Amino acid sequence: MLSIGIGDGPETMHQALDLARQYRDRPETPRIWASAGIHPQEAAQADPDRAASSSESGDEFRKDSLATLDALLGEPEVIACGEIGLDYYHDDNPPREVQQRVFAAQMDIAAAHKLPILIHCRPGTAIRSADGLEANAWTDTLDQIEAQWSRTGLGGVLHCFTGKPEHARRALDLGFMISFAGNVTYPSASGLREIARVLPLDRMLVETDAPFLAPVPERGKRNEPAMITRTAAQLSALHGISPEELAERTTANFLRFFHVAEDQ
Ligand SMILES: [Zn+2]
Repeated sequence: MLSIGIGDGPETMHQALDLARQYRDRPETPRIWASAGIHPQEAAQADPDRAASSSESGDEFRKDSLATLDALLGEPEVIACGEIGLDYYHDDNPPREVQQRVFAAQMDIAAAHKLPILIHCRPGTAIRSADGLEANAWTDTLDQIEAQWSRTGLGGVLHCFTGKPEHARRALDLGFMISFAGNVTYPSASGLREIARVLPLDRMLVETDAPFLAPVPERGKRNEPAMITRTAAQLSALHGISPEELAERTTANFLRFFHVAEDQ
């Protein structure tokens, strides 16, 4: 499994790596790998432009956040950069321009380490940009990936996918995997289930997004890795296969996509 290293912000994004090392040699525990990344909601803490042009006391910290990420991505247990991306959902999120700069800076660092990226994308509610077009986090994210990332050939994962069919199609064209969380089990998620039903099984991953989005019938509880079986059962039913086969397929996808071996 992959433990996501965003911490509570850049200063704690090493915690997933700590977990991976803590459980490294315990035969009763599945192998844990780690990621590291600066979540878009924390992007202001790592804005390269602000670090370069201002003399605020936080400057060193901003430069440090990207330098820390660079160091973490060099560790052997760290196999991906993320969650990174764009989040337009909350009004108090960093400005879109800041998020886009920090997303770009992190893609550069990930490319230097030849690691795939894990994308967090959450659209807002009808924010209007200067040219009068509605801002859409999915379009902006996929545009930025296409312009800056697709040439690396390293691919990535759309984590906790909530987009529309055209976003899934575009992501597949860009060589991305699509990962589903517990919300695919929610009664209102019929559109998401239809995307999952037609998604080629070799491009699918399954995740918790813990502590959020506990699947039905655990909905509302603190989500934990053990509850992944509920999400996997939903996905297997959509594809008309057994949960065991779904588990085998998604595990094989994970090992192939991240270039790792179970006993590594
Ligand atoms: Zn996320």
